[in-house]
Amino acid sequence: MNLRIAIDGPSGAGKSTLARQLALHLDLPYIDTGAMYRAIGYLAMHRGVVAADEVTKLLEGLELEIKSDPNDFRVSIDGVDVTERLRDTEVSMRASEVAQIPAVRAWLVARQRQAAASGAVLEGRDIGSQVLPDADVKLFVTAAEEVRMQRRAAQLGAARDADLTREIRERDRRDKERKASPLRVPEDAIVIDTGAEDEAASLARILDAVNRVKKRR
Ligand code: C5P
Repeated sequence: MNLRIAIDGPSGAGKSTLARQLALHLDLPYIDTGAMYRAIGYLAMHRGVVAADEVTKLLEGLELEIKSDPNDFRVSIDGVDVTERLRDTEVSMRASEVAQIPAVRAWLVARQRQAAASGAVLEGRDIGSQVLPDADVKLFVTAAEEVRMQRRAAQLGAARDADLTREIRERDRRDKERKASPLRVPEDAIVIDTGAEDEAASLARILDAVNRVKKRR
């Protein structure tokens, strides 16, 4: 059954953990769209390109390949696996810069829709609103800022210091305020506060919603 599940929310909310678990549980591909923006941000950084039109030019003939395994999601550009290079602060910031460029979004959204065509769990910022407005189940995953900061620090194995706080606040601000597909809670989304509800309870609630969809079909 080609279920399509959309998961959106701010940085450090715990989207990936839930998304991977759901994909494993439902035997669906997992697509981390943030990693796709990070790959373009990494490429722009590597090539020393900043201006929107130059970043857009990088996309001409570019091959972006993803491996949508929930246990081992990977991204390659032009045949080179860049997955391990995508997590540091500089790439995070460059990803949120290139994510403001409409042409970059259009290029990636086309690839995300294609990858989701026969069912998948997608996580990002605009999945329920733009990429898959007709997704079978939409989730908005969030948590208090302090919880998100702690979680991001733990993921990075770094201190929760002023630099990390600044990075996350700045990325969240850009994601919410940008003109092209800003972060929004889709009207028909199930909202999950990962600081208030434990993983098992969230998963049970989501699987309930999935089962209701399956019965309707
Ligand atoms: O999810 P992650 O933190 O890896 O995403 C990196 C950046 O990519 C985000 O800060 C956001 O600017 C951008 N992004 C986006 N739309 C998505 C996924 C990520 O704009 N669907």
